Amino acid sequence: MSRSASRTADALNRSAKRFMRAHPNQALRLPDAGETWVARDHGLGEAPLQEFRERDIIYVVGRTRAGGDARSAVNEWQTNPRAAAWIESHIEGFTRTPCGCSAGVRTVKRGSLFTCTADDCDARFSRLVAEAVVQNRGPVMGQGARGP
Ligand SMILES: [Zn+2]
Repeated sequence: MSRSASRTADALNRSAKRFMRAHPNQALRLPDAGETWVARDHGLGEAPLQEFRERDIIYVVGRTRAGGDARSAVNEWQTNPRAAAWIESHIEGFTRTPCGCSAGVRTVKRGSLFTCTADDCDARFSRLVAEAVVQNRGPVMGQGARGP
């Protein structure tokens, strides 16, 4: 545990921030710092879980069998307090896309067709809508942030 504890004192690295920005829907599922949780209670799959772990966004604090298959224990996790604070100030204020995802915008067909960055969403919208989402993001994102 001491290894994890000392890691949380470090600033979030660029890779962690980039990953959370690119996967806001997953980042928003992370519980607040100080809570101990298991992945299935928060709809987090194995793939994002490992991505978060590799970037020190979350860390293992123990193992539990509670509620699951008695033979297979699962990891208990905590969210890095710095990651939780970053998510609060940078992601929770995201303007939602028309599909209802809290996500960014991605090009499907350059200049005319767009979708959101959520992996499991196949909504499509026009350039005008995409521009509105992107333009609204700055001020909205800034609301929760303190300083630059
Ligand atoms: Zn979407």
